[in-house]
Amino acid sequence: MVAQMKIGILAVQGDFDAHAAVIARLGAEPVLVRVPADLAGVEGIILPGGESTTQLHFLKEEGLKDALEKFAARGGAFFGTCAGAILLAREVRNPAQESLGFADLVVARNAYGRQLSSHVRFGPCKLKAEPLEMVFIRAPIIEQQGSGVEVLAEAEGHPVLVRQGRVLVATFHPELTGDTTVHEYFLKLVRNGDRTAL
Ligand code: GLN
Repeated sequence: MVAQMKIGILAVQGDFDAHAAVIARLGAEPVLVRVPADLAGVEGIILPGGESTTQLHFLKEEGLKDALEKFAARGGAFFGTCAGAILLAREVRNPAQESLGFADLVVARNAYGRQLSSHVRFGPCKLKAEPLEMVFIRAPIIEQQGSGVEVLAEAEGHPVLVRQGRVLVATFHPELTGDTTVHEYFLKLVRNGDRTAL
């Protein structure tokens, strides 16, 4: 039997269970990551939505921030959604906050006005021919991106799904829809690294 690919899911706070269910459905093994030792054998890690300030606090308290830096240095792949996108960004605004900085992005937290702060939309995405369902919940806005960042989907004039090398970032929540397109793409990224085609 071929060993299942292990995908870590940061499980200190937020909607990690929803990601674990999608990963299992796609035939990979979800591994809930709460302490550095949980990263053993993991090839890619998902940073879920939730509250990024709280998540950052736990990351530091558990020694996970250093462990994730080592994981990145050994070529591990990352997929951050919403709060996870905030953790991966190079610079965080509104308010400023420390971050891992693995993606060359400047993000502003809670940046949609009240009316749009939580909403669902269908929009074009380079990963599929049909419009992709995107669930936004108090989402950040990507205000700037570096030249090495590929935009895979945009909404309201801002990127909402981007990739830089082995780092995939969504400001929305693909784990909350029945559409597994974005997670399937992440598994390809874990398997094929920088050579992954669209
Ligand atoms: N507003 C949250 C934050 O700033 C992110 C919201 C989410 O992950 N759905 O951390």
